[in-house]
Amino acid sequence: MFELLKEQPADKILMLMQAFREDPRETKIDLGVGVYKDANGNTPVMRAVKAAEKLWWEQETTKAYTGLAGDPAYAEAMIDLVLGDAVPRAAVSAAATPGGTGACRQGFDLVRMANPAARVWVSDPTWPNHLSILKHMGMERVDYRYFDEETRGVDFDGMMADLAGVKAGDVVLVHGCCHNPTGANLNLAQWRELVALLNAKGAIPMVDIAYQGFGDGLDEDAAGVRLIASSVPECIIAASCSKNFGIYRERTGLLMTVAQDTAKQKLNQGTLNYLNRQNYSFPPDHGARLVTLVLNDPGLRADWAAELEEVRLSMLGLREQLASELQRLSGSDRFGFIAQHRGMFSRLGATPEQVARLRDEHAIYMVGDSRLNIAGLNKTTVPILARAIVDVGI
Ligand code: PMP
Repeated sequence: MFELLKEQPADKILMLMQAFREDPRETKIDLGVGVYKDANGNTPVMRAVKAAEKLWWEQETTKAYTGLAGDPAYAEAMIDLVLGDAVPRAAVSAAATPGGTGACRQGFDLVRMANPAARVWVSDPTWPNHLSILKHMGMERVDYRYFDEETRGVDFDGMMADLAGVKAGDVVLVHGCCHNPTGANLNLAQWRELVALLNAKGAIPMVDIAYQGFGDGLDEDAAGVRLIASSVPECIIAASCSKNFGIYRERTGLLMTVAQDTAKQKLNQGTLNYLNRQNYSFPPDHGARLVTLVLNDPGLRADWAAELEEVRLSMLGLREQLASELQRLSGSDRFGFIAQHRGMFSRLGATPEQVARLRDEHAIYMVGDSRLNIAGLNKTTVPILARAIVDVGI
């Protein structure tokens, strides 16, 4: 039987990490993998998370199974974090998942189960896992324009023109904030226009929010998802705690559905439980428990929010430094988009040849589509990157 298996394509980012590790040059800079790094290149455990771990070690009395949807207190805390008071609690169903990836996967499974004919619209470009999961599941996908290669902002006219083609029952996947890989995001007026279009077409939005707190702030980054949740009849939301709690390997996510018709809440909740059951039974608990402890303890929550704000501001500072360094070196404003982008990533808009030259001639590693991880930089490496960017003629 195994001889029937086909070789699967290797993950490009993991290959890049490997190449970086093997590069003997001491000056090498890793702007590839999507993990937050501080100025020393470390991905620290956040203070409040560490404190919660200590508390939990003392408090935990059993490792018996939780519920199929995970610990209800986790869902409550996360619904509050993501949705605030945008929708009545009775409209929301939620299940813990292994990371945001698990939430996306379960969300797609829900779509397929509810409406096998649904097409899933994704931004071009999007996080490659969206594409590979949809392909693996055999679901029909349609791309919509998103990135304006010229301005490096959102091609909103193109996006709306493409989305005019959605059919009732189609699902439109959007990034809640800090778009991966481009860093370009909708403003509130654009979110409103998008909502109006989706409502007019009868399409269902699915929001993937993996970087809440990395862009403009915890509430600001949730403005789009809250607007959607409060103004469409139904939506699906996949949230990740990997980045904003720094608990990548704990696999902590939440899949939510919102239905204005609250009579659907029970059915939706039962479906989310069912899907967890089919795929892995009980979701992981440790990360979810830490998130719950942090969010429900005023002291820990304040400390977490303060540390997250430090992270956010450090990335913003690096963006501004890089944009102004590039302005100085190139004598043009064409790199201003780097300061406008939000989150961990920016797509530079370089050719694959230029990306290869950055790697070969300057030991600077970024993803082939010219996505760079801003958090891979520090004050010393920003000028080095800026010089290299100008040198390879981006
Ligand atoms: N969605 C997007 C857009 C992401 O960038 C990521 C992280 N790379 C995720 C979801 C989920 O990450 P995780 O499964 O690690 O929580």
